[in-house]
Amino acid sequence: MTKDYYEILGVSKEATKEEIKKAYKQLAKKYHPDLNKEDPEAGEKFKKVNEAASVLSDDKKREEYDRTGSVGENPFGQGADFSDFGFSSFADFGDIFDTFFGGGGTRRPRKRRGEDLRYDIEISLEEAYTGVEKDIIITKQSLCETCGGRGALHEKDIVTCAACRGSGVVRSERRTPFGYFTTQSTCHSCSGTGTTIKLPCTECHGSGKQRVKKKISLTIPAGVDNGNRMHLPGQGQAGERGSVPGDLYVFIHVKEHKIYERREHNLYMQLPITFVQAALGAEVEVPTLDGKATMKIAPGTQPSTIYRLRGRGMPDVNAYGKGDLMVQVNVKVPEKLTKQQKDILKEFDETDIEGRGFLKNLFSKR
Ligand SMILES: [Zn+2]
Ligand SMILES: [Zn+2]
Repeated sequence: MTKDYYEILGVSKEATKEEIKKAYKQLAKKYHPDLNKEDPEAGEKFKKVNEAASVLSDDKKREEYDRTGSVGENPFGQGADFSDFGFSSFADFGDIFDTFFGGGGTRRPRKRRGEDLRYDIEISLEEAYTGVEKDIIITKQSLCETCGGRGALHEKDIVTCAACRGSGVVRSERRTPFGYFTTQSTCHSCSGTGTTIKLPCTECHGSGKQRVKKKISLTIPAGVDNGNRMHLPGQGQAGERGSVPGDLYVFIHVKEHKIYERREHNLYMQLPITFVQAALGAEVEVPTLDGKATMKIAPGTQPSTIYRLRGRGMPDVNAYGKGDLMVQVNVKVPEKLTKQQKDILKEFDETDIEGRGFLKNLFSKR
């Protein structure tokens, strides 16, 4: 690879700073090792591009380079390990450009957004079926009512931060294998807000926040399932000195039910029936989440047969209809029989040709 910095960046010897910056930006993106994991040479190219840009963007170094064909000591050293450089993402490019081209000043002080909150709520399957209104109480940081979240009673008590001169960030220089780089970090004196408070609000001591218990009314829609969550924008913690509050996430847990087991939109249940109902057929009542349903048992119904009651399952949370109720019959065999009942059954048994055949069939299959 060429050592000519102008050639590396693909610019003419008369290129303006702006042109160099543009060329660097394109090439840095093109060869960024994070984006070129497949290309083993990308890291090397990226290094060269950086080296070229760091020289050509600096008037003094460029002049020296133009004159002598090299620049003093090579700040990049030999065999510098690229991984130490600590590029984590594209986000870092902004800082590099600022470093090379004396940019910056465009970054505005930031007030930190409030944190998100999580609340877990348990409801019954019946409540999930119909939907339910619930009032919850959350303890959270809210805007200070005394100062309206500003942190001071009067605007004049809020002054520009002396440490960062209002920018909200401080710069520090550090040496890397590639030369000196400036990094920006949030100003500690003002937490990045760019201002400090001369006379803090007596209520919140300048934070702009106060701890409150807040009642929130939730409208939980019909059909919600375990693990569904509701998103309530702006109901989280108050932000730094009156900035945007966080959000509240309510996680829904549906309690297990004694009768029904839910699988997505369908409900499953066991229905005990007598062996006579199974043999002769019957019309039975089935408990559902909204009352009762009648179900016909066909004559000769076998144990564990599942009947489907359409539309008697859980509603869809987006109101796309309802699931089904799956009723599995559980044929009960009587455990206590009177003498008379025994006699009747014995009499039945003597004529039970079908029953006698079961065992015979089994043996014939051996
Ligand atoms: Zn500051
Ligand atoms: Zn206050």
